[in-house]
Amino acid sequence: MPLRVAVVGSGPAGFYAAGHLLDADVPVEVDMIERLPTPWGLVRLGVAPDHPKIKAVSKAFERIAARPGFRFLGGVEVGRDLTHDDLAQLYDAVVYAVGAQTDRRMGIPGEDLPGSWAATEFVAWYNGHPDYQELEFDLSGERAVIVGAGNVALDVVRMLALAPDEIRPTDTTDEAIEAILGSGIEEIVLLARRGPAQAAFTTPELKELGELAGADVIVDPAELELDAASEASLEHDTNARRNVEVLREYGTRSPSGKRRRIRLRFCVAPVAILGEERVEGIEIVRNRLVADDAGRVSAEPTDARETIPCGIVFRSVGYLGVELPGVPFDARRATIPNEDGRVTGVPGVYCAGWIKRGPSGVIGTNKKDATETIDLLLEDARDGKLQRGDPSATAETVEQLLVDRGVEHVTYSGWEAIDAEERGRGEPHGRPRVKLVTWDELRAAARSIAAT
Ligand code: NAP
Repeated sequence: MPLRVAVVGSGPAGFYAAGHLLDADVPVEVDMIERLPTPWGLVRLGVAPDHPKIKAVSKAFERIAARPGFRFLGGVEVGRDLTHDDLAQLYDAVVYAVGAQTDRRMGIPGEDLPGSWAATEFVAWYNGHPDYQELEFDLSGERAVIVGAGNVALDVVRMLALAPDEIRPTDTTDEAIEAILGSGIEEIVLLARRGPAQAAFTTPELKELGELAGADVIVDPAELELDAASEASLEHDTNARRNVEVLREYGTRSPSGKRRRIRLRFCVAPVAILGEERVEGIEIVRNRLVADDAGRVSAEPTDARETIPCGIVFRSVGYLGVELPGVPFDARRATIPNEDGRVTGVPGVYCAGWIKRGPSGVIGTNKKDATETIDLLLEDARDGKLQRGDPSATAETVEQLLVDRGVEHVTYSGWEAIDAEERGRGEPHGRPRVKLVTWDELRAAARSIAAT
């Protein structure tokens, strides 16, 4: 009898988990359960469309999906269509790889004013996530402010600044391309609450800003001055050292008159988002940096405040995991409590990726992370610690349960039909794909496979 495992979530952590399961020297069946009709998680819906090389990791996921024992159950939501208890009945083990589904809040006045957006909403919109297509971003103002100094913040800055030749060949949705190219934005301001040596973004992404066709980068050298602890940290932190080098070079540049300006600010934090009916500005405070005994540098507000007029604010201060019904959750850390991927106190249940360790690292980080989890799962299987609630449950049992509940799932062939349709639409325009962006379109394309 094969080991039957449900992997919930089809992003990088889910696929790496599935791949490692299928590498095992025992027969394994993997059902990958995904809420959306499409796989790949943030590779499809998070990675910026002008980063096709990063998106190419999906080829590795395609190879995993092609292996015997793999099955995709798209359009199936755990907690709605199947409960955690169902999964415990139907599978020997369940691996949650659901990522971090919401955004961290800043907790300042005005955060919910119209025109104040989570960066994740904007990212989902321009990437064609079917749940985010109704959002209307008013990009008519002259200035946009992005709060946060991570790679998501840089993605948003860059996407807002792309020139026609940079954005048109991508798979950004048509609506987003037109909105971005037609926007009134002249200046994009990024606010980092700590100094240049503490920025979370990585150097290649920072360098890209300086190479954009339609935007000048501006940094005030005064904001790049380092305190002693920051200076010392550069010795052992290569990314920080390179970031500071790149920023110092930006500090020597004068604007060359490109259509847009990107202004990177350091040691400033928002205290309030201002406006009557909608966002009109953001009040910021200048921070001073203080180091503790371990050399960790944190920001402390001074009395110096400033108001930046702006028409839109994107809060890019990190993602947060969301609780799944019936699954333990550590609300403080916004992760599933676990020991190296074994969910604490629940035999047969595992987790991988951002819901396991929090929203950090690059796509490849999830390979090591998922491998660690699956090694423990396979060890537990060898030790006879796994048992499905219903020992007679098979792949067909799951299918029948979904039919009985009126859940029409999208198969992997259904996804391939969506994929072919999207690639076909993109091809005449030299684009990797033109995404289908509504549930109806996606489902119709998936169904077309059954009709042929
Ligand atoms: P992140 O890297 O954790 O960055 C979050 C940023 O928000 C930090 O600069 C943090 O500053 C700041 N912040 C947090 N709370 C704040 C507050 N209340 N006020 C002001 N600033 C605040 O998160 P992310 O950008 O969402 O990225 C998530 C992960 O995905 C990261 O590992 C990232 O590298 C990865 N990613 C990679 C790529 C790529 O490789 N191209 C693209 C996108 C995302 P402090 O440091 O001071 O807390």
